[in-house]
Amino acid sequence: MKKLSVIALATLGLLGSNVASAAEHSQSLAQPNAAPVHYTNPAKDFLSSKLGLSPSDVEMLFKYHEKTVLEEFRNRDNLLFGNIVPLNSSSFMAPNTIGNQPIGAGYHLVNWDSQSIAAFKDTLGRVVFLMNTPEFRKDFNLSLFTVKAQSSVNVLIPSSYDKFKSYVNQTAISYGNHVKAYVSDSHTGRAWGTNGLLIEFEQSGIGADLIAHEMMHGVGYAHDGAYNGWNDNIPYYVQTILSRNESASDICDNGLSKCEGNMINSGVPYNSQYNDTYRSASKETDPTSLALLGKYFNHVS
Ligand SMILES: [Zn+2]
Repeated sequence: MKKLSVIALATLGLLGSNVASAAEHSQSLAQPNAAPVHYTNPAKDFLSSKLGLSPSDVEMLFKYHEKTVLEEFRNRDNLLFGNIVPLNSSSFMAPNTIGNQPIGAGYHLVNWDSQSIAAFKDTLGRVVFLMNTPEFRKDFNLSLFTVKAQSSVNVLIPSSYDKFKSYVNQTAISYGNHVKAYVSDSHTGRAWGTNGLLIEFEQSGIGADLIAHEMMHGVGYAHDGAYNGWNDNIPYYVQTILSRNESASDICDNGLSKCEGNMINSGVPYNSQYNDTYRSASKETDPTSLALLGKYFNHVS
């Protein structure tokens, strides 16, 4: 089933401050109040205790993607964003700590509730897991030519996945590897992120595509508000590979490497009939393609 999503883009005029609206999600969120579960299997425990994934995600990944799980487990000390997880309670910021830091437009910040914390931990875990998969690495390198330096005014565009990973992790270190996450009870349909791993979400809009996008702003990647090629910058590029189309090189209906949102080939969520069969966009018979988020996390519905 093709799911169309609408993403609105706005720039707040602050360096690296950008928003993206909530895309439509088919992936389930973590169970409310899910406590960290410890496993005797060290690779499962890595998914739970290190990445923060929910028990259902842990079991699903092991059932369908054990090979990738084991690869990431072996590489657990050298993962992209691997040092920002696991989150602890100090990452879930109270609204009265915002101080002079910018706030997302239309946001009314509130205290985190346990359900939102559980959802956020699991969803960030999904993002970290996906950004370290071999498919993400391959697709990032393959389609990097679509990302032009002029569309990201604040930072250099990396020349490879390895350079990207190095930049992200070094920048995260400079911010103490400490995510500062705020939550809002507003319903603007947007998320927000800026330098310093400072991100803001709405309680109803915690999803992997948005978290990936805002985490890119969190380490300084931006998109120029005047630029209309949505995949032509790192935040949308990463979001695209994860959740909309695993190959950004064929993202546009018109065959160009950049296009407006209404021309984007949205990824089709995987479901259980696909099991562990990974099909690249070029081999997908459906005119749309299959995004990594669906491949790894849509087996159980
Ligand atoms: Zn953005």
